[in-house]
Amino acid sequence: MNPAAELREITSQLKKLIVSDMEMGIDFSRVPSSSGKDPGEKQAQEDSLEGLKTLIGDCRRCKLWRGRTNLVFGEGSPKARLVFVGEGPGHEEDMEGRPFVGEAGKMLTRIIEKAMGIKREEVYICNVVKCRPPNNRDPERDEIDTCIPFLKEQIRVIRPEVICTLGRIAASELLERDFKITRERGKWHSYMDIPVMPTYHPAYILRNPSRERQLKGQVWEDVKEIMARLGLEVKKDG
Ligand code: URA
Repeated sequence: MNPAAELREITSQLKKLIVSDMEMGIDFSRVPSSSGKDPGEKQAQEDSLEGLKTLIGDCRRCKLWRGRTNLVFGEGSPKARLVFVGEGPGHEEDMEGRPFVGEAGKMLTRIIEKAMGIKREEVYICNVVKCRPPNNRDPERDEIDTCIPFLKEQIRVIRPEVICTLGRIAASELLERDFKITRERGKWHSYMDIPVMPTYHPAYILRNPSRERQLKGQVWEDVKEIMARLGLEVKKDG
């Protein structure tokens, strides 16, 4: 796309997002969707994500902005086949403005790169809420309700082949029901017709060192399911 056409496209998408935002809080339903399969659509997806990032801006829509250092929008490939969804930024993420860069993030990166054998930049990583809840508490209902349209729009734009939710909150919020992670992880669910594999949050494994082996084994089972869905070769066993 030439620069003028690109600018027109971004402006038009932003206009649509802003009109929607004004109409009902945040409703992105008229932003053009892309299948994510055509390589020619990568630019459009990237532009849509950038437009969304511009729209979220210096967000003060909920009270979490007061305690944050940086908003953590999400990062990765706009045409990722796999999207990971966490709960919300922790201290390190808040400082860096990037998702999953602390201890839990290092574990997630090892899962992606060592266990799955793909590059972190090839997937997309984001959270239910984009700002750090104080003292790493769970995000509250009003904060989730305000922020989750942005997550849903990220997923709609990227339209991955698989979503992997990390922990109870990400699964509950995406699947819109009370999700029992210990009982229900490891089974396929669906969001916007996209297969969803819920697994444990890496922070949960870090908080339970006595069960590390068992929990990591279960995450590995879930990862193998995802790899099979994506038609990727499993590199290691266990
Ligand atoms: N935990 C999350 O849920 N998200 C992050 O980005 C980091 C830690």
